[in-house]
Amino acid sequence: MTSARPPGRVWAHVGQPFTPGTSPEPLHDVLIVGAGRMGSALALALTEHAPHLRTLLIEEGGLPNEDGATILAPGIWTLAHLPDTQREAARWTLERLRTLLGDDIQARAYLTLHGQPAPGRQPTRDLLAAQPASLALLDPDLLSYATAYEAHTYRPGTLAQTAAQAAIRRGTDLLLNTRATPHPGGHVTLERLTVTNTHQIVTHETHNLRAPLVVLATGAHAPAQAEHHLGVHTRHARAYRQTPHLATPSTEGAPILHVHGLTLRPQHGAYTLIPPIHHRDPHGYVPQGGQLTGVPTGLRRETLEDLVGLMDALPALATPDLHLGRSLADIPGAWLALPGGRPDAAPTHERLDDHAHLLLGGPHADTLGLWTADQLAQKIARETERGQ
Ligand code: ADP
Repeated sequence: MTSARPPGRVWAHVGQPFTPGTSPEPLHDVLIVGAGRMGSALALALTEHAPHLRTLLIEEGGLPNEDGATILAPGIWTLAHLPDTQREAARWTLERLRTLLGDDIQARAYLTLHGQPAPGRQPTRDLLAAQPASLALLDPDLLSYATAYEAHTYRPGTLAQTAAQAAIRRGTDLLLNTRATPHPGGHVTLERLTVTNTHQIVTHETHNLRAPLVVLATGAHAPAQAEHHLGVHTRHARAYRQTPHLATPSTEGAPILHVHGLTLRPQHGAYTLIPPIHHRDPHGYVPQGGQLTGVPTGLRRETLEDLVGLMDALPALATPDLHLGRSLADIPGAWLALPGGRPDAAPTHERLDDHAHLLLGGPHADTLGLWTADQLAQKIARETERGQ
């Protein structure tokens, strides 16, 4: 399919004059706030389902933002934790990931490990016979059985970038380093940000825009923005997830391991740990490091407790290979949206008011995010056609 529209414009920094803000008539039909993978995927899907719509994608940081959930997401597509009802959406997402990422998505085995036998489980020693380095991470007497699942790994940051670039080629405009604040009635305030020579982020200029439709794709920030600025209370929540590093070497073909909620993802010749999320973080929670035998760590208390609880089954965690850090800044971490406030919920979208939608990724965005963004694009396409 060829796009009749010329490529969109990109405003990366305040040196590039941004004029739509001065026009009395809306120049865009849709404003998407947040160019993480969800917002970027929506922008691209809109160019396919509703090519007549003029879209502006607005991002507070760069593409992808260093602080967003996208850049720290595990990047694991897997059916391992999905109910049957979501399999079709996951398969659709995988096909789409392959189209967008080409060689940048790799097949990898995924093993969930257990202490007890059950139908479908195989002895861990058999499954890992060809992977002695993986076997050495764990105690096969405690984790004697495993279920093998299909999985694919990729970089969610690359996905956000690829989707946004494809959308721009098909006419979407992109405004970077700009903080958007939504208001009722499709109004949005934009603050174009710049960095002073003393490294402070300041507002260079402000614009007011209006569009028939605004989509909040601001990740973990979205529920609070909906509530504070649009006055719409949602059931969604957020949690702070840290992804500590385990320096135990991993080989090229090493499988992803999943043990009692903890995922060990082979990455850069070692492992990234993705701890379980147990619950939403309470309103006002500020991430803080915990303490291990009186020594401050960069890992929050709950995560530390989980890892300590797994040290018998995964002796590698009890070695200096586990990077505990001294303070929070030592451990990569990001706020993650929890759709419906639940750690296991699928990505979702919902209408907030006559002019606004919410699009949330969350913990299953790696496996289902593209499908949910596509669903919302189709819904917007239907609604705008009806409205014409
Ligand atoms: P998701 O996986 O849902 O895409 P992310 O956290 O990766 O979640 O993406 C959300 C994006 O929204 C981030 O890149 C973040 O910088 C951006 N963002 C958050 N709040 C604002 C805002 N007020 N204005 C513009 N961008 C925002």
